[in-house]
Amino acid sequence: MKTLRSYICGRWHEATSGFAPLVDPSTEEVLAQASSEGIDFGAVLDYARDHGGPALRALTFAQRGALLKDMSKVLRDHRDELLDLSRQNNGTTKGDGSFDVDGASGTLAYYAALSKSLGDRHSLPEGDGVQLAKTDGFWAQHILVPRRGVAVHVNAFNFPAWGFGEKAACALLAGMPVITKPATATALTTERCIELIVAAGILPEGALQLIIGSTGDLLDRLGPQDVMAFTGSADTARKLRNRPSLLAANTRVNVEADSLNAAVLGPDVDPVEGSATFGLFLKDVVREITQKTGQKCTAVRRILVPSDRIAAVQDALISRLGAVVTGNPADAGVTMGPLATAQQLRDAEEGVAELARTARIVHGSGKRSGAKGFFFAPTLLRADDARQAGAVHEREVFGPVATLLPYDASAAAASEIVALGGGILVTSVYSDDAGWVGEFLAHGGGAAGRVYVGSESSAADAPGSGAALPQALHGGPGRAGGGEELGGLVGVKLYLQRVAVQGSKALVNEVAGVSA
Ligand code: NAP
Repeated sequence: MKTLRSYICGRWHEATSGFAPLVDPSTEEVLAQASSEGIDFGAVLDYARDHGGPALRALTFAQRGALLKDMSKVLRDHRDELLDLSRQNNGTTKGDGSFDVDGASGTLAYYAALSKSLGDRHSLPEGDGVQLAKTDGFWAQHILVPRRGVAVHVNAFNFPAWGFGEKAACALLAGMPVITKPATATALTTERCIELIVAAGILPEGALQLIIGSTGDLLDRLGPQDVMAFTGSADTARKLRNRPSLLAANTRVNVEADSLNAAVLGPDVDPVEGSATFGLFLKDVVREITQKTGQKCTAVRRILVPSDRIAAVQDALISRLGAVVTGNPADAGVTMGPLATAQQLRDAEEGVAELARTARIVHGSGKRSGAKGFFFAPTLLRADDARQAGAVHEREVFGPVATLLPYDASAAAASEIVALGGGILVTSVYSDDAGWVGEFLAHGGGAAGRVYVGSESSAADAPGSGAALPQALHGGPGRAGGGEELGGLVGVKLYLQRVAVQGSKALVNEVAGVSA
């Protein structure tokens, strides 16, 4: 059986014990095993700090961007192989695998392009300089320079390629070496990504290391210049961010956690065939329930519809969800694969049972389908009292599951119900009435990190609310983790230290590379 390896201290490490299995979720066949036993995590950190950090900091932003471009190319060149690994280990259809694999290469390419505008410099000026005395003999300018530590990336099971790529792109561009740790159960695709990048000899020694399996005492060894960026469940995030060592060292921590994203149908949209906005709403919502079998942090979990239209919307959604073909993505005609692990299947079944205490199932069963494989067909619920829907606003069921909720057509009510989710990644609002959307944003826009407005004028171009594009912020307040990733330079700044440089204007400007 294949044993996955970690890439540490410039070599591949293969454990001999402590293995966890990696399974094909369509067949339940064991594909590989993984363990991090035998790794000296102190040595891994030293290697990054002593080799990767200095080598990256010696490069300019533009030079580091060129490395990202090569990383992107190598992943693109092996796209078919990576899609196949994703199908085997994550149970993805080709389209769902591409969301992850092309998302990784695309994000790396985006940051490579962005680096050109940053130029051949080692620091970035931020904002305008300011005079601090009567003359320009004393002046200040904020600049951003790489932190001197290590970026540790802990990623979720659902994006083995993109999770690695989107975080690594920002850290490497900033000049910080990366230790990436995928979720063990689906690490097959990540291991291959790193293997390809290492074999291509793109990065300086120590700039990128891979841990597959437990992180051992790695997190307890992080210090004040390090960054820990975590993506996963809110429960794990809470445990990790409260580690005494991270708190004591004030290690910079970014959390991207789970989210009860909402789609809101505006009162101006008639749920009829021929309405471009309603057509977009249906297309997006069905995609956001079923893409990656609902295993996306940005998937739609709650669907708010004006009370007098909820029956028509329910019928239209059921008709579309009924056309989804659940099965092994290797089989022709299958449009949605299984959940990724046995644990995810158990969680989804338990989750629907909890939602069913305050909502009723109107489509699907909320149970496993078939005897073999972790298949779970789309399940739609409806709660008639949106404000008393309990778990619907509290429990993220990480599968193709969403709940319809009525509201009274006012923007204020919609935003209040959305905010019951406790802080979310993305809200999608479908309306052609800018006034209503403005009111929604003013009342409750701050409950989400991103608001996606679907309208007649965006119907042809809008990619769906679930796409975390590198140009726009990814992250949300509250239970979504409070983190900020992507968003162009926003995501890079996580790995940069802001320094106020003070001195004479002439000298400060010269040091900061600012023309007078
Ligand atoms: P998870 O169980 O919280 O695990 C996430 C990662 O944390 C895995 O790599 C896991 O490693 C690691 N981990 C768990 N306990 C740890 C510990 N004590 N020390 C160090 N690492 C530890 O989450 P998941 O099931 O993989 O992912 C699903 C969740 O992620 C969902 O809730 C989803 O909403 C969220 N998610 C959020 C985003 C976002 O951007 N906001 C994106 C994707 C997913 P092992 O696998 O080795 O246990």
